[in-house]
Amino acid sequence: MKKLLLTCSLILSTSALFGCGSLETTNSNVASSNEQACDFGDVKLLADFPTSRMDECRRVGTRNFEILLKPENRPINSSPWYAFRAVAEQPTTINITMKVDGDVHRYLPKLSTDLKAWSLIDYQDNGDLRSFSIDATAKPSYIAGQEIIDNQYYVDWAKKLQAMTDISHEVLGKSIQNRPIYKLESKAETNQWLVLLGRMHPPELTGALALFPFVETLLADNALANEFRRQYNILLIPNINPDGVYAGNWRHNMNGVDLNRDWNKFKQPEVQQIDAYLEQLVADGQKIVFAVDFHSTRRDIFYTMPSDYGVENPYFVEHWLGELDRQMPEFDVIQKPGNNPNAGVSKQYFADKFGVHAITYEMGDNTDRKFITRIADKAASTLMSVMLSDQNHNKR
Ligand SMILES: [Zn+2]
Repeated sequence: MKKLLLTCSLILSTSALFGCGSLETTNSNVASSNEQACDFGDVKLLADFPTSRMDECRRVGTRNFEILLKPENRPINSSPWYAFRAVAEQPTTINITMKVDGDVHRYLPKLSTDLKAWSLIDYQDNGDLRSFSIDATAKPSYIAGQEIIDNQYYVDWAKKLQAMTDISHEVLGKSIQNRPIYKLESKAETNQWLVLLGRMHPPELTGALALFPFVETLLADNALANEFRRQYNILLIPNINPDGVYAGNWRHNMNGVDLNRDWNKFKQPEVQQIDAYLEQLVADGQKIVFAVDFHSTRRDIFYTMPSDYGVENPYFVEHWLGELDRQMPEFDVIQKPGNNPNAGVSKQYFADKFGVHAITYEMGDNTDRKFITRIADKAASTLMSVMLSDQNHNKR
């Protein structure tokens, strides 16, 4: 049955929209991506929770379903996101085929029943169709492109941090759909600030999986971290695009704009409010010294500002990442300096507006999760050591 479906779908995929022999159709409204369903009583595929996305779903056989993935708007970076749950009255194996409308698959399908432990699903690619089978039961099986980390997760995590250390958790601003954009702050005895940003791009989960341990290492109760927090304030804005996270967007905010292309235009409320907050900090006599913005891409890479760009402490980032490279021989630290004056990316904003270094910290989509944690832990501890040392960053 499965093989027949695949063959049939492939032949017709150029002439028909997708697949063949459709029995029933549930078309969805792309704008309200958390309300889609293939609801057939005995078996249901549901995109009815925060972060969910399954743009069109059709049942094409008793146990066979086809899902079409579409972005929130175009043009858009290739990041087809999906997240949905399967429920069956009686335990049954169902076959799911996914196609991306006008794009290619990026995120490998993963399965969880508790939204905590995730496993990779074996899949087959046949042309632009990706197929896999799962065992559906009365208890929901969650299928998603990456681990699901929703807006509530960040709030719960912040509460855990507050139980661990002295850190504030407050609303910095509001998204277009009025969701809170939170900031966490650890206060030092100086006016020096480290700024950490996350989740401008909703599906970039490995960036989030790096941010959590990175921050926890900075907030740890040990001599290095305690001294660091005595000398440096930390401003953390971990979830900058809560509307996009909620809607399961591939990339954009609810205006259909890439927030990491708005740091020179400041037209989006999410970016505007953060910029205004940082401006106010500086107006109040505070000094931003460095910023890290967490993302994901196809490989582990650190996008930096060139050491000759004209920011203060020109070799500071080279020194930090060089130290990380020395301390992690098993990790190939790739530094990619770049100057993109009109791109509107956050690292350029920090360099241009505050005259300091900033980096885009990118983890690979498929990097081993434990390794992401180890890298983040070491990246944070080496950052603290280098920022506390009296090393001269004016020379290589
Ligand atoms: Zn990104």
